[in-house]
Amino acid sequence: MSKLLYAKAASINEAEQFFIEAEEARYLAGGMTLLPTMRQRLVAPDRLIDLANCQLSYIKDEGSFIKIGAMTTHSQIALSDVIGRKINGLAHLASGIGDRQVRHRGTIGGSVANNDPAACYPAALLALGAQIHTHKRELTASDYFVDLFETALEEGELITAISVPVPQKSAYFKAPNPASRYALAGVFAAFMDDKPYLAVTGAGEQGVFRWHEGEAALAENWSKEALANLTISEEGLLSDIHASAAFRSHLVKQMAQKAVEACA
Ligand SMILES: Cc1cc2nc3c(=O)[nH]c(=O)nc-3n(C[C@H](O)[C@H](O)[C@H](O)COP(=O)(O)OP(=O)(O)OC[C@H]3O[C@@H](n4cnc5c(N)ncnc54)[C@H](O)[C@@H]3O)c2cc1C
Repeated sequence: MSKLLYAKAASINEAEQFFIEAEEARYLAGGMTLLPTMRQRLVAPDRLIDLANCQLSYIKDEGSFIKIGAMTTHSQIALSDVIGRKINGLAHLASGIGDRQVRHRGTIGGSVANNDPAACYPAALLALGAQIHTHKRELTASDYFVDLFETALEEGELITAISVPVPQKSAYFKAPNPASRYALAGVFAAFMDDKPYLAVTGAGEQGVFRWHEGEAALAENWSKEALANLTISEEGLLSDIHASAAFRSHLVKQMAQKAVEACA
């Protein structure tokens, strides 16, 4: 077994260089997912590249969008004045992630890189049409999220920031797993450029997805009543020890209605 080396990169270029030199490297953000995964022997990197000194922790108000550095923690997003004012659904989402420790260590970049099917950010980023910036290119959220724990990131590709467009209104509601607070089903609702957007996390067999039927109903009438007679097909929904597909279908509608009501 090779020895594990820890390296703190001073820049994005150095992080990439460290990655290339190693046989099986992993970038380290807050370690909230990576360290438990290593403890369970599910991954065994020979090098951990800590991104803490890469100047990737920032929140910039760019007018029509907010640019968030990959190493920005959930707490910083939850407590950000500008995000609270301009995308309060995102601030609320971040404030409900895990527990205090997870929010203080966990980062938006680590969460988006991991693409856990029950993670909260994918719903916000897909609904709002966010851009994921890497050290090589930019990807729209719809191209970026591919499947459960699968993204469009290539080997060694580093997320540097995420640009989130500012909507007219937004809200996020989830039915949390009582132990972890991950979403059994979570819905981000947004109204942007006079159009409604609904994205669902926690429930899809292929990860985050848009609920187009719900969006069409909201385009006619932005109210929770507009969703009342719709049914979300159980086909394509996750069924596991936490919740059946039928229960998730019910939760998605409930969370969507709550989010739409909160936006209003
Ligand atoms: C108890 C618990 C409860 C949680 N509850 C929730 C919840 O309610 N909602 C929710 O959304 N999430 C939840 N999470 C996940 C949490 O939000 C973390 O953000 C997530 O675990 C990622 O952690 P991290 O940022 O520390 O990344 P790490 O664990 O350090 O890294 C995760 C993965 O991403 C890679 N990586 C990290 N940064 C980058 C980067 N910039 N570019 C490319 N790859 C990168 C790493 O190599 C690794 O493979 C929970 C986690 C725990 C432990």
